[in-house]
Amino acid sequence: MPSNKSVSDAPISQFTNCWILREHALQREDLWVREGKILDPEKLFFDEQGYADQQVDCEASIIAPGFIDVQINGGYGVDFSQPSEDVTAGVSLVAKKILEHGVTSFCPTLVTSPPAVYHKVLPQIKVHNGGPHGAGVLGFHLEGPFISLEKKGAHPERYLRTFRSGGIEDLMEAYGSLDNVAMVTLAPELPRTQSVVRELCQRGITVSLGHSVANLSQAEDAVQHGASFITHLFNAMLPFHHRDPGIVGLLTSDQIPGGRTVFYGMIADGIHTNPAALRIAHRAHPSGLVLVTDGITAMGLPPGHHTLGQQVIEIQGLHAYVAGTKTLSGSIATMDMCVQHFKQASGCSVEEALEAASLHPAQLLGISHKKGSLDYGADADLVLLDDALNIRATYISGEEVWRKQA
Ligand SMILES: [Zn+2]
Repeated sequence: MPSNKSVSDAPISQFTNCWILREHALQREDLWVREGKILDPEKLFFDEQGYADQQVDCEASIIAPGFIDVQINGGYGVDFSQPSEDVTAGVSLVAKKILEHGVTSFCPTLVTSPPAVYHKVLPQIKVHNGGPHGAGVLGFHLEGPFISLEKKGAHPERYLRTFRSGGIEDLMEAYGSLDNVAMVTLAPELPRTQSVVRELCQRGITVSLGHSVANLSQAEDAVQHGASFITHLFNAMLPFHHRDPGIVGLLTSDQIPGGRTVFYGMIADGIHTNPAALRIAHRAHPSGLVLVTDGITAMGLPPGHHTLGQQVIEIQGLHAYVAGTKTLSGSIATMDMCVQHFKQASGCSVEEALEAASLHPAQLLGISHKKGSLDYGADADLVLLDDALNIRATYISGEEVWRKQA
């Protein structure tokens, strides 16, 4: 027993027999945790001779920072954008279920909706930490309604909006409030967008470009005003053209203000993005790649037929079809599947695959000092994985919240 626990009397956990992801490499080290944070063992040894209250044998697991999903519309039968449902219960259900896929925090995502939906839903889900009850909520991702008619995808046309008056006033009219909002996806070619981008960024809200027909200079202009993300790269934007590469051109643009990174979301489910396109993006701009599930209501449901809203859908493997057709109804891959697929399809390292689901989304949201890394002082949100990147266990604030049954 140490004679002097000068810093804190809280119990210390020592994760042993593991490879931890730190400074872009898997390192054969123990991980120390106290009061939900990652502890610097050197200070510990100095004060307390390496005493741990609890040891966790990780059985040669990889330990990575918990995954962060910045774009998830629902899952397990829940659609966050459906106002008829009990929103809090729906978010809680999904938050609990995604623990088994290694997700420790997420941005519930709303597709284009009428103002009444935003006004009702946004105040109900506050930003909060995760725990045994489920993954933490980092704030909403509002995808629309300020997007392009031509690239609306599955967003309902009748609710699309433009910036008519001053910009931000239109935004407030639609959303009601920006409390609990982490990110907004908009089309930068809409008139009066640039002042909205600047205003959102000043309020600490991440601006993403998507569902858009913007050319490259419009996209660069938005980035110069503070936009920092591209929503599901390649999907719902102009295809790459060598004389005007559009939003895709941001990956190699020389007009990005110094020191900044433009991040981009990839749905790496093997269906929404061809593996060759995934490789092009990754090789052009590896440090900006953020894996997202873009998960829909059917994510996590078993194969077969399901009634979702007005539609019947049929799940076959990783595909969700409108029943009786070959029309894809959205992504149903979970985050752990996306990490595995990304690694296999891109040929990237284990470290890169894991950082695309943890460090990069944390950097995007400006929270990398506490999430997305195993640096000293960061939140002890962890995933334990085997060599094939299957999830063995998930921890939030140093506490086990899910473990695969043997
Ligand atoms: Zn979308």
